[in-house]
Amino acid sequence: MHTLADWRAALPRALPSAGWRTRFAPAPTGFLHLGHLVNAMHVWGIARAYGGQVVLRLEDHDQTRCRPEYEQALLDDLDWLGLAPDLFPTTSFARDTAQHPARQSNQLDRYDAAMRSLEARGLVYPCRCTRKDVARRAPHAPGEEPCYPGTCREARVPPNESFARRLRLPLDPVTFHDIRLGPLTQVPAQQCGDLLIRDRHSQWTYQFSVVADDMAHAIDVIIRGEDLLASTGRQLQLAAHLGRTAPVSLLHHTLLLHADGSKLSKATHDTALRDMRTAGARPGELLGLAARRAGLTTASTLAVDDLPQLFV
Ligand code: GLU
Repeated sequence: MHTLADWRAALPRALPSAGWRTRFAPAPTGFLHLGHLVNAMHVWGIARAYGGQVVLRLEDHDQTRCRPEYEQALLDDLDWLGLAPDLFPTTSFARDTAQHPARQSNQLDRYDAAMRSLEARGLVYPCRCTRKDVARRAPHAPGEEPCYPGTCREARVPPNESFARRLRLPLDPVTFHDIRLGPLTQVPAQQCGDLLIRDRHSQWTYQFSVVADDMAHAIDVIIRGEDLLASTGRQLQLAAHLGRTAPVSLLHHTLLLHADGSKLSKATHDTALRDMRTAGARPGELLGLAARRAGLTTASTLAVDDLPQLFV
């Protein structure tokens, strides 16, 4: 693991040459909080400092949890903060653009086509297991993810019995380089087992839609919190199955935590940007607060134009 000074110094070598794309990809399942702002500051700051472009994508693949009012709130918050995407400006997401290329609920055909290409190669199978079935059959510590034990892999579940589909994962380890964490190896087949790509309720999963979209949007650099690090190996395997050959640079930054060590969440309102706005905070104060808590600065306020300086 590298210190901030180390990985910042490594950025020019680790990033592609100018014109590369990264993305900010929140799920509209709640209000943005300080943790999202820390992610956005890394995304915009690094892109602005090193010639990248920021793509805004709304990850509303799970329609049971997303709400239009959260989508509108996050677009408003980005406008208010002055964080302007280079591709898909906030105004492009007005609800009537039913075919928006960067709103996941408008891209079901994209996911369907991607799944069909996997199916045609025998890589996908129907699964009838519920979440409870998997948890019961795969003992795991609290907070750990269960590893799907392959119950339906050879069971020849009729395709119309369940919407759920899993991708067969090879047993091979995946090795990749993270700009902050260095070289890493993961064995997805042992972490999560065959990957759920569509669930029993016909919702495309985060793992599947994010990979299909990163390919469709030609994303070269993924900058996100280290809570998603465990997903990286499986996403690289999936991307390879979907035909991705372009390299991707990866940076998993540290997360903001509550004093007791727990993760910030949309359910706890204490760090919602919306609430702090309502309480009278200014954009520069929130940027400063998020950057201080992430250890990126000691300044009390910060302008959007200051963000690139945090990463050079
Ligand atoms: N939509 C994901 C989230 O809100 C982020 C996706 C990603 O960066 O891979 O946590």
